[in-house]
Amino acid sequence: HEAGKVPSHTLFYESSMSSKITEKLILENDLHFALDNHELFIEYQPQIDLQAGKITSVEALIRWRHPKKGWISPGDFIPIAEESGLIIPIGQWVLETACRQVKQWEQAGLPLIKVAVNLSLGQLFQQNLVEMIQDVLERTGLESRYLQLEITESMTINIDHMTTVLHQLKALGVTIAVDDFGTGYSSLSYLKDFPIDCLKIDRSFIRKIQTDSTDKALVDMILSMAKHLRLKVVAEGIEEVEQLSYLIASHCETVQGYLFSKPLPPEVLQENYDILQQNARTILKNLSVFE
Ligand code: C2E
Ligand code: MG
Ligand code: MG
Ligand code: MG
Repeated sequence: HEAGKVPSHTLFYESSMSSKITEKLILENDLHFALDNHELFIEYQPQIDLQAGKITSVEALIRWRHPKKGWISPGDFIPIAEESGLIIPIGQWVLETACRQVKQWEQAGLPLIKVAVNLSLGQLFQQNLVEMIQDVLERTGLESRYLQLEITESMTINIDHMTTVLHQLKALGVTIAVDDFGTGYSSLSYLKDFPIDCLKIDRSFIRKIQTDSTDKALVDMILSMAKHLRLKVVAEGIEEVEQLSYLIASHCETVQGYLFSKPLPPEVLQENYDILQQNARTILKNLSVFE
């Protein structure tokens, strides 16, 4: 019979393919209810200003606690949200929750800090994005300069549209960062058109910064380019003191990574704010940044 002729690895391949598709459809279906069922959360990862030795901003990172499957990584469900269009309501919820959170922290006695929110391509094509963000800022009472929007180089596919939208967003007073900078295979010419404030150096360049001369050269190049273009820089994924010490020597301004803190639930960040900041200063002190 025919089935017996099919090599077993082919069968395995096909069945794992179709189960992946099924899995995706189940997740998409479940994601429809995740927002209303309060299964979505945001964690906040501190960004440390190396000159001041302070937490000056946080990045908002979405989390999904699935009732049966447990925690699902945004790397797995954000693409599903993008393909299904669910990124529009989810993205709006993230923006509003994050803006409200920094105001709440301020009311609880923390300094007012900036919050960085990731945007998806679909949101940049959302009709009312600019009005929506303006409404969110009004409703939450957050001053626009405390909101940073993160875009990626993959969004440079429609330069004209993006240039228009980004200028409208800038007119609100928010700032714009390019996330995962250097990984997008896009031409750098968008840097001339887009009103960008900040480049985030991708973790993949930071990881082997001490051992790989190419990675080192790329980081040096990004830092020097940012300096000439008067852009701020955030280095992502700092896990080791050696990485930090290289970045300090290279005059990087801001860092984000497990060395200082993992992304944290808002109440944990609030309770440990002083400890996190003290810890950051101790790390920097040991590197003789402070006397
Ligand atoms: P991203 O915006 O580049 O966020 C940084 C990612 O690196 C986060 O992963 C963060 O937890 C992780 N990270 C930070 N420091 C370290 C470190 O020292 N070591 C290591 N190994 N990892 C570190 P996460 O939270 O899993 O998010 C993955 C991606 O999902 C994000 O990458 C972003 O592209 C997307 N994402 C997360 N939240 C949202 C959201 O609200 N909206 C949209 N559109 N995308 C989001
Ligand atoms: Mg990001
Ligand atoms: Mg990134
Ligand atoms: Mg990323």
